[in-house]
Amino acid sequence: MTVRGRFAPSPTGDLHQGSLLAALGSWLSARGQGGHWLVRIDDIDPPREVAGASQRILASLQRLGLVSDRPVLFQSQRRPAYDQAFAALREENLVFPCWCSRQLLASQGGMHRDGRCLIGPQSDRAPAWRARTPDEVLHFHDRILGPQQVDLRQNVGDFVVRRVEGYDSYQLATVVDDAWQGVSEVVRGADLLSSTPRQWLLQRWL
Ligand code: GLU
Repeated sequence: MTVRGRFAPSPTGDLHQGSLLAALGSWLSARGQGGHWLVRIDDIDPPREVAGASQRILASLQRLGLVSDRPVLFQSQRRPAYDQAFAALREENLVFPCWCSRQLLASQGGMHRDGRCLIGPQSDRAPAWRARTPDEVLHFHDRILGPQQVDLRQNVGDFVVRRVEGYDSYQLATVVDDAWQGVSEVVRGADLLSSTPRQWLLQRWL
């Protein structure tokens, strides 16, 4: 199988040292194995987007010789695919609507673990949709950080798949696009390590 790596920046600002390291690391890893390397712009969060950042990121990458082997994919164009994945999760009862506020969750230790909303339907606002995270321990191997063990119920909880504002979550969009683009390895900042169990669970379900 040909290795396929990717770099998927969010256009919330210009390329900085951390994102450049992720870009270069993913490029070196894919290229070092004779594989392909793709660039995707994770522009699914309009309020956090900075005008012109996508184009500046792409121009910086180009200047450095880091050029995508396929046309750059913009997540803002992929809404129908996320809708389809969300509908499949809903159909299988793997997600549930949740009206719990941040304040309420903070009083419960900051995590949602019950597999159902703690307060039930509220007519004055739309719900977020959360994954019904199973009580299970996940083991995976990170090439730099080594073997990882995560108790899904204790450490991950019922994470948000579709946000209150109707936007898709980073977790869902990433899983849908990594699969669609045939990505075989992910090299990204260690700050995203906690996303791996969430994305692994969605990959398994979908
Ligand atoms: N878009 C994410 C970010 O810029 C990274 C996505 C990923 O590599 O999975 O933080």
